[in-house]
Amino acid sequence: MPQSIDFYSETLSKWTCEFQNREQENDFLASKLQADKRVARFLVCVVACVLLLLLFVDRFIIKPEFWPTLALVWRGGFVVSCLVVAFAIRYVNTVRQLQLFTQCFVIYMFLNVQAMVITYDDSYVLHVFFDIIILVAIYFSTLFPFKVSCLFGLLYGALGIAMVLQTKTVSFHSFSVVIMAYIAVNLVGIVISAQEHLLKRRLYYRNERLKALALEMKSQAYKDSLTQIPNRRAFDENYQRYQSTAQRLVGETDSVCVAVCDIDFFKRVNDTFGHDVGDLVLIEFAQFLLKSVRPTDGVYRFGGEEFVIVLTNCCKADAINRIHKIISDLTNSVLDIEEIGYPITASFGLAILQPKEDQKTVIARADMALYQAKDTGRNKLCVDETIT
Ligand code: GH3
Ligand code: MG
Ligand code: MG
Repeated sequence: MPQSIDFYSETLSKWTCEFQNREQENDFLASKLQADKRVARFLVCVVACVLLLLLFVDRFIIKPEFWPTLALVWRGGFVVSCLVVAFAIRYVNTVRQLQLFTQCFVIYMFLNVQAMVITYDDSYVLHVFFDIIILVAIYFSTLFPFKVSCLFGLLYGALGIAMVLQTKTVSFHSFSVVIMAYIAVNLVGIVISAQEHLLKRRLYYRNERLKALALEMKSQAYKDSLTQIPNRRAFDENYQRYQSTAQRLVGETDSVCVAVCDIDFFKRVNDTFGHDVGDLVLIEFAQFLLKSVRPTDGVYRFGGEEFVIVLTNCCKADAINRIHKIISDLTNSVLDIEEIGYPITASFGLAILQPKEDQKTVIARADMALYQAKDTGRNKLCVDETIT
């Protein structure tokens, strides 16, 4: 559910590459949890596949004392543990669980990969390629918080260099290339990963803002700007629901009753007291109608000083009684507007919504009844009897 427009802010920390607002950061992380799970599962499966292939080619570079039993059992176990992890990721439900789970796996993988380095010939350093790929995946996947990726990258780089230094006998040139490779991948990784983290959050922020704006615009589009009650478009939008209710109630005493209501001599209010007082009357009148119906009913401003009331699950006699109560409340000056010294009254036309009837027809029938009320003295209710 998008937050209100003002909730989110684009303020990002340049050090952590996270939103400064903790709640916003948590929402962001939660929004990408499913995608992160897919990425994590994919990466773990890639590790398992590469290890499986290495089972066949590693024999050429593994020291005789480790080949075949120890090396094969070890690597086989590693492949199996990767597959178990890939399977288990589906049971991770929260951001925190995923971070903990993947971070533990990465540490486990780092230690395993570096332990495998010990089994290779003393002159073999090409495993560094794989280390670089692992670091690229960690930095670019944005699975971990930026700081954690940097920590992993730098520590793993240091561990990789230390392992080459301690366990390999290579030329100065090869050793220098190894060091430069680790430094380069960390530098590139830190810069690009920071950009990735920031970019993803900016995109998220803008998406959320757009969603909130769209929601706000939609709610504005269905609201009358003066009285703040639903407008005619909202009635059209809800009409399908009213019609379904009418169809459901076929054969029962209850039905859906539609009343059109028009304030009497409203032009005179405007002309005598001014447009502002007229507006105030409309606002008060709308609020009064809202208070007079049940929460499941509907009140809409159709335009000018014309309103529509929809009484759902209500029999015709009940609807008539309730509208008579509204009329008598109005006659008894329920709208207490200081500037106007007389009661504001209104006329009503009522029609019972027929199943399969469209909104234009039912409103036209209620309107006809309203004209009749106007023609026969105003401040009263007339009921459409064309359909019985
Ligand atoms: P009747 O009893 O026959 O309904 O007479 P009436 O004067 O109420 O009817 P009429 O349709 O002649 O007048 C409606 C008036 O409502 C005319 C218009 O200026 C006014 N009106 C429409 N919209 C607004 C509004 O948003 N604010 C104000 N203040 N007046 C409005
Ligand atoms: Mg009027
Ligand atoms: Mg009118």
